[in-house]
Amino acid sequence: MSSVRVRFAPSPTGLLHIGGARTALFNWLYARHTGGKLILRIEDTDAARNTQEAVDIIFKGLQWLGLDWDEGPDKGGPYGPYFQSQRNDIYKKYVDRLREEGKVYEHEGALKLKIPRTPIVVPDLVCGDVTFDRANDQDLVLVRKDGSPVFHLVNVIDDIEMKITHVIRGEEHLSNTPKHLAIFEALGLPAPRYAHIPIILNTDGSKMSKRDQGASVGDYIAAGYLPEAVRNYLCLLGWSPKENREIIDMQEAIEKFDLPQIKRGNAVFDTNKLFWLNGEYMRKAPMERLEALAVQLLTEAGVLPAGHDPAYLRAALAIVQEKIKLGRELPEWLSYFFQEEFAFDPAAVAKVFTPEGLANLTRLRAELEKADDFTAAALETRFKALAEAEGKKVGAYIHPVRLAASGRSVGPSLYHLLEVLGKARVLTRIDRALGAHAPA
Ligand code: GLU
Repeated sequence: MSSVRVRFAPSPTGLLHIGGARTALFNWLYARHTGGKLILRIEDTDAARNTQEAVDIIFKGLQWLGLDWDEGPDKGGPYGPYFQSQRNDIYKKYVDRLREEGKVYEHEGALKLKIPRTPIVVPDLVCGDVTFDRANDQDLVLVRKDGSPVFHLVNVIDDIEMKITHVIRGEEHLSNTPKHLAIFEALGLPAPRYAHIPIILNTDGSKMSKRDQGASVGDYIAAGYLPEAVRNYLCLLGWSPKENREIIDMQEAIEKFDLPQIKRGNAVFDTNKLFWLNGEYMRKAPMERLEALAVQLLTEAGVLPAGHDPAYLRAALAIVQEKIKLGRELPEWLSYFFQEEFAFDPAAVAKVFTPEGLANLTRLRAELEKADDFTAAALETRFKALAEAEGKKVGAYIHPVRLAASGRSVGPSLYHLLEVLGKARVLTRIDRALGAHAPA
């Protein structure tokens, strides 16, 4: 068994940032790749920002991405995470020890650690050896005047207590690492190995911040992205399988992921690329995945009636699947399958429901009424035979019946649409359209 132990240590800020999710994913991949353990530690010492809601957002994001962890303060799974806010006794023991050993001194009520003004090297698995000069560094406050330990101290103590072997975190923490090393040294304990993963930039080169559109995992949940697509995309933010492929399933990522291959340069977060990738996953999604997503989003949108027919929903999904890039589009594409009283697109009505268009629709209705076989293939033959007999283009029938059956001028393949709706529904809808649009 591997001895690798890594942790994801988010602070509850009110959102799960894309960068945080990427950090969680890389830790998870490394743990799964090595057969080691992943620990979730909520760094919630800042009581002002610390709310249950903020913690729940982290859980929800991790769960949605399918990232699980392996240990917690309680025995047996499923594990809760560690909360720093519940570990003050542990921190106090370390502070007492530093005090007893004369490693810290008091200054204006705070407890400080003397920092040597000599250069220090941070050995990093991604960045290489990074030297910090420290000539102008201040001594480090470990415990504030009010008795509260600072982030750097509790972060290091927890890495010790949790026997963390590899710290994989965002590069913004690289500059904190000399401080952390100084604390390890004061405690006389070896530091873990570090892997600082690249900063994430927007496509315009600016640093991605909390406020940027699409910076939060919650945005993608709400928009109906598939978590497997987002997870795939996050994998590529600083790492890639050798052949430069973009679509990589998790099992393969677990097999191939390793720290030395993480790229040194900044990673660029391209929402268009993620959108594209999601479309690829949508097209290939197994029906159960699509169905689950559709049930959730259509229910939220008030489109799906209670006690809907699952086979009918699946049939509708099957014919729109290739057109859909985002779950959020599903209510728009599917609402008319479940609602009879839909509105007709006025522009399409003006163009298609002309006296001639309505006459063609009436003629088509008589033809469809005779149809026993309502499969797409049989319908296609019937439409073509009618067009030929009447000396018209098949579009003369297709456009009016699409508008009558769906209220719009675009949608999935028409014959398939009619097949899924079924004869009874189609005839009723044609009657409704003719009734509503008959010339006065
Ligand atoms: N709590 C820190 C953060 O949210 C993480 C520190 C670390 O990973 O060491 O950025």
